[in-house]
Amino acid sequence: MAFTLEEMLQNHSIVYRYDQIQTDKLYYGSSFDRFYTVYRIFLNSNKLIMLKKWLKKVLPRKAADTSKQCVLPFSEHRIKPEKLSFAAEKVIKRLQNADFQAYVVGGAVRDLLLGVTPKDFDVATNATPEQVRKLFRRSRIIGRRFPIVHVMVGPETIEVTTFRGGELHCQNELGRIMKDTSFGTLVQDAMRRDFTANALYYDPFKQQVLDYHHGVEDIRARRLVMIGEPLARYQEDPVRMLRAVRLSGKLGFSVEAATAEPIMQCAPLLQREPSARLFDEILKILFCGHASACLHQLRDLGLAGAHPLLDALMPAMATEQNIVALTLHNTDERLRQDKSVSVGFVLAAVLWPRVQKAWQQYLDSGMSASGAMNTAIADERTHLDKSWGIPQRYTVMMREIWTLQPQFEARRGARPFRLVTQKRFRAAFDFLCLRAQLGEVQQEKAEWWQQFQQATEAERQKMIHRVPASESLASTRKRRRKPKAKDSTHEKTS
Ligand code: ATP
Ligand code: MG
Repeated sequence: MAFTLEEMLQNHSIVYRYDQIQTDKLYYGSSFDRFYTVYRIFLNSNKLIMLKKWLKKVLPRKAADTSKQCVLPFSEHRIKPEKLSFAAEKVIKRLQNADFQAYVVGGAVRDLLLGVTPKDFDVATNATPEQVRKLFRRSRIIGRRFPIVHVMVGPETIEVTTFRGGELHCQNELGRIMKDTSFGTLVQDAMRRDFTANALYYDPFKQQVLDYHHGVEDIRARRLVMIGEPLARYQEDPVRMLRAVRLSGKLGFSVEAATAEPIMQCAPLLQREPSARLFDEILKILFCGHASACLHQLRDLGLAGAHPLLDALMPAMATEQNIVALTLHNTDERLRQDKSVSVGFVLAAVLWPRVQKAWQQYLDSGMSASGAMNTAIADERTHLDKSWGIPQRYTVMMREIWTLQPQFEARRGARPFRLVTQKRFRAAFDFLCLRAQLGEVQQEKAEWWQQFQQATEAERQKMIHRVPASESLASTRKRRRKPKAKDSTHEKTS
């Protein structure tokens, strides 16, 4: 039989400051006897408040009570230690030799169990960041909210995290964890992780996997299950909702009903998150290699409208071909083939429908092609730079790609020669090809530019003379400046 602390106190008619004891978090069942003894001792004392501290030490939280450590031997997990990177093995060995606990944790263990090559290895330890720092010459402590250590071994960087505690975090009125600086035990660390599949600890020397939350079972069933009470866990950190989208999309996991259920309700919480963190997480969705699958999850879980950038991705779900769908499909394909991908290019494509719509409106109002484009870009600038937290290194490239689009219309005189020497010509040309593929630009024009790049000087002159004279007129006509907006954009991008 389980009593809440509140019930016990009411039964014994004590006026007690139970608000300070966070009664909603503490449940005691089998521990009732222990509590009752202490309660009798303190009943007539005015030191009841001390009980709070003592209880926290003596009595574990419900989740920790119910989670049983499960040690899986090699015969059950079958992870070969040689699957670990040299760096991860070295970091764990040195920590263990210095008498610390050290495990591979998180996504890497999950991926090894799934037979997938992990993209990186994270290590969890009971050594404090300073202790880790002392053990590795090539290491640095990073992070303000919760310090972690980056240990560099050869070209690899291993993220070493000290076990997190569950006690001293501060939450705001919405349950959001605002400060999270306590270190803890392995059990507490496992409770603080997001999904059961991510709360596995692998010791390559003992060849054991520690599983506190039935993570292995969930991985085998290919389902994503939140540890603890899902609503509270999303309130603690709303970015976990985006992680649910990415991990389920990337791994092809279903999201367990109770884990999925509060997401729609909690979606607005994302608006209060720092834009830079949201942008990072959205970027991970775009470049996880399964962006198209993630978008289905994004829509199905009810997060599509939670951020303008997520909204901008939604055209990819349409049945008809469009630039967002095509770009995400190409990005997934390139990542599968181990080819490079460009963040600026992909974002330029994702946000192109917005820019193009404004461009068209300014064109209709009588502006020149370039003037209309610069004005449309200037309209987007505040969103790009401030509201959505897109770093400048990407927005500069996006603006350059967009600015060059109208310039492909000018195929006479000296302009084509100038255009091919632009730093961003190649990316802008690839973007033009994408537009041509969608019928937005004549295919013949894209082919002309392809030939022009490869042609000799003499051939280029001939090509230019073959372009109808009307084309140069069309691109220079109707020059009507819109004050400021055009100028400021032009300065930066040309
Ligand atoms: P990936 O394969 O994409 O790296 P991952 O699960 O390893 O996926 P990371 O961002 O590398 O993701 O995080 C490492 C681990 O840290 C996670 O597996 C999880 O245990 C924990 N973690 C990360 N973010 C959170 C969070 N917001 N809340 C709770 N635990 C988290
Ligand atoms: Mg990881």
